[in-house]
Amino acid sequence: MIISVKMPKKKLYLKVWKILVGRVTLYLLDSDIPENLEEYRGITSRLYGGDQEMRIQQEIVLGIGGVTLLNSLGLNPTVYHMNEGHSSFLVLELIKDIMAEKKVSFNIAKDIVTAKTVFTTHTPVPAGNDIFPISLVETYFKDYWKDLGISKGEFLSLGMKPKEENRTTFNMGILALKIAGKKNGVSKLHGAVSRELFGDVWPDIAPNEAPITYVTNGIHTCTWLAPNLKELYNKYLTPYWQDKIYLNETWEKINNIPDEELWNNHQLRKQKLLKLVNDNTTNRLRNSGMHYNQIKEITSKLNPNALTIGFARRFATYKRATLIFKDLERITQILNDESRPVQLIFAGKAHPKDIEGQNLIKRIHEISMMPQFKGKIFLLEGYEMSIARHLISGVDVWLNNPRRPMEASGTSGEKASVNGVINFSILDGWWAEGYNQKNGWAIGTNAEYYSYEEQDKADSESIYNILENKIIPTYYNKENGISKEWIKLMKNSIISTGGNYSTARMLVDYTNKLYIPLCNITNDYFNNLELVTEYDRIKEDLYSNWEDIEITQNNNLDNIMLDAGKNIEVSCNVKLPNISVENIEAQVYYGKILDNGTLENISIIPMKLTKSDDDKKIYTYNAKIELKTGGNYGYTFRVMPKHKMLLDSSNLNLVKWITN
Ligand SMILES: *Cc1c(COP(=O)(O)O)cnc(C)c1O
Repeated sequence: MIISVKMPKKKLYLKVWKILVGRVTLYLLDSDIPENLEEYRGITSRLYGGDQEMRIQQEIVLGIGGVTLLNSLGLNPTVYHMNEGHSSFLVLELIKDIMAEKKVSFNIAKDIVTAKTVFTTHTPVPAGNDIFPISLVETYFKDYWKDLGISKGEFLSLGMKPKEENRTTFNMGILALKIAGKKNGVSKLHGAVSRELFGDVWPDIAPNEAPITYVTNGIHTCTWLAPNLKELYNKYLTPYWQDKIYLNETWEKINNIPDEELWNNHQLRKQKLLKLVNDNTTNRLRNSGMHYNQIKEITSKLNPNALTIGFARRFATYKRATLIFKDLERITQILNDESRPVQLIFAGKAHPKDIEGQNLIKRIHEISMMPQFKGKIFLLEGYEMSIARHLISGVDVWLNNPRRPMEASGTSGEKASVNGVINFSILDGWWAEGYNQKNGWAIGTNAEYYSYEEQDKADSESIYNILENKIIPTYYNKENGISKEWIKLMKNSIISTGGNYSTARMLVDYTNKLYIPLCNITNDYFNNLELVTEYDRIKEDLYSNWEDIEITQNNNLDNIMLDAGKNIEVSCNVKLPNISVENIEAQVYYGKILDNGTLENISIIPMKLTKSDDDKKIYTYNAKIELKTGGNYGYTFRVMPKHKMLLDSSNLNLVKWITN
């Protein structure tokens, strides 16, 4: 099958590959066919390495070509899920198709598309989002905005924040955030970070109320579980445990595994890993011209009885691969205690354009060649899944020390924990919620720092202290060759994370929190053009008349001293010009007043409509505030839009606070 998409010079043809991955059908689009201009044939040949023009071409292939492909196959999904902004052009193609098919305006089609799209942001690094110069977007979309029936200005604004001053770029992440009905980050902390990062897409809404939720990433357990451990789980967990991975009960049975059996099972994996480390290191050093005897001197020190710490990931600078070497004296001491030896294994690649990241790899190589570290620090070449598999199941400790809060999720730690490898990580990404004080160690604190240097210093000292005082003593507290305390940690690690950090749990969350609400809203309302037209008109009314809403307070308690357990009744009047009372919600917003004047423990509760004066358009609302603790409280009132077709009240960027 060959499909085509429009390009400025000539149509681009794409050959379709269909691949069956287990029960999943994967389609790949391929531009390398003779029908195409020579310069187009390489569009799909590599992921990174091209320039911005190639990038926009690739994203047209993915977003617009992707929708074209599904149409050609006769597939008509209810929900589309965009993973990062690379595929965001798909919302435009869907709008265009719906306008043509249903003969509706851009706004109506956009509402329909909103109700069927999910957008997941994956990284709090701004470079994670493709941002194109306007000139490039003009070249590639100059006929497109005409097809959408909107002006060039309106089109370009779709990729810009509403109050953007420097209007010279088009941001794919913003396009998706503006149109997708549901938006999420990939861990609880990353959800909060994303709300702050993208808060000004909804400038009138407080950043912490921006409509971005979260679903924590999980790993595909059966892909990442080591084969010999799978056998052990078959023996001690309930039959068909693979079908109940997301249930915590499934994992509690881990306690039935005898300690020796779990330890020996792990030791076997460790030996296999050390063999791989030996082979990989030998090859790497031989290719660099080192003499065989010298190589042997290094690799012969690999020790299956030494506490083994693994660190493998992309060498993006925020992951701070060399943090453990911040104080070389101290790490020398730690690695060279002959009675309690420790060895470090590193692996990873840097982005082709990330020179700083590449320098980190170089630095680790240099350190590993210092006399005191020879045979103690190993660096593996060619990090990919087959190496990852051995590392995350064969080391004893999995180290992760990103610069908080830059790690969106970090999945390698989840792979490690289900294999009984203990996490030693910054409280960032998934570990900020996965760590429970009994299943591993937390590096540093939740503190925020004034400088990178200060943060690096605090975090590296935390690494040394915990290694010296907790990890090494626990590992070497052996009786008959095994450490019971360590095995307890291994078991706690598997039990506490096996279910919660699996794709099984993740899919349940995506389904319940995001896909089902979109399916329901699409099936109940958005397939019906009359309802969508009515909704669109209501939104117009809200936008044109919102500023004229007036809220007045009925009793004037500004802030109040109260005892715990006491309830107070509050009331306000809302005057609604040309907005129907059904389409708003009055809310009371309250919290404890701190000495510095800010509110803490904020609660927002909807108020009850108690009196309507339809002639004067004045509506009275009441609410009871229940106070769990005593103290000085403050409260205020506000109005938010409300409609059964509106997925999140913040999506419209409308909020009206009391003015008096
Ligand atoms: C799991 C995995 C990653 C991602 O790991 P993070 O902890 O998210 O950095 C990267 N590369 C490979 C080969 C992996 O298996």
